[in-house]
Amino acid sequence: MTDTVLVTGATGGIGAAIALRLAQEGFDLVVHCRSRRDAADALATDIGTLGRTARVLQFDVTDRGGARTALEADIARHGAYYGVVCNAGIAADAAFPAMSDAAWDGVLRTNLDGFYNVLHPLVLPMVQRRQPGRIVTIASISGQIGNRGQVNYSAAKAGLIGATKALALELAKRRITVNCVAPGLIETDMVEAAVRDAVLQQIPARRLGRPEDVAAAVAFLMRDEAAYITRQVIAVNGGLI
Ligand code: NDP
Repeated sequence: MTDTVLVTGATGGIGAAIALRLAQEGFDLVVHCRSRRDAADALATDIGTLGRTARVLQFDVTDRGGARTALEADIARHGAYYGVVCNAGIAADAAFPAMSDAAWDGVLRTNLDGFYNVLHPLVLPMVQRRQPGRIVTIASISGQIGNRGQVNYSAAKAGLIGATKALALELAKRRITVNCVAPGLIETDMVEAAVRDAVLQQIPARRLGRPEDVAAAVAFLMRDEAAYITRQVIAVNGGLI
């Protein structure tokens, strides 16, 4: 039976690239979305043309009960997943004194609580599968070094890195690896033009990353041959740090 991987936020630039790349690598997919159901359905169709199956799950990762209900129903029907990519995330940038309560809460709830809300219903079934497994979280360079205008986002992504490393310790002897991929600036809707131009000269590779660059790192971590890589942060940032 083909192994199945859940990708959260698969309607976004990076999530879609990850899902397509994993389909090319031979995995079946569960593509998750919050609001863009049409985009998720279209992605599932594209994955079908690659000869893999894909089903769509829709829920808000900040809704703990809703996430648990959707995930438990899916694995009750189809079985526990081999892999999970916690990719869904948002930014809401502002200088700290101007940051709204909503920007703080929304970014923490989505990027950090989302880790708990998605993985908590899934980890025990993965362990009980008694097979190797893979968990990859998508953090950010902001979580590694902090970024101005992103106190909320940096906090959430740093927390995500800590959570990833701690879970890796708990699951290592179960043959489930838990790693973080930390992109630098990636060419997606999330990146504003002004930020892009300002930062380009600071990137040693002199280009922004592509969603496919992030997907390649995730795909590698999903492979059998990555079995001995766990509790790591793999930076995909063109040498920025
Ligand atoms: P996008 O804005 O393109 O996509 C975000 C995705 O997350 C969408 O699929 C969206 O679903 C989903 N999402 C957002 N909020 C929620 C929520 N509350 N519940 C469920 N799903 C949600 O972002 P990117 O593809 O650029 O980013 C993907 C990840 O990569 C994020 O974690 C981001 O922080 C990280 N990252 C991005 C960088 C960049 O330069 N772009 C750099 C470093 C890290 P829907 O569209 O269906 O609403």
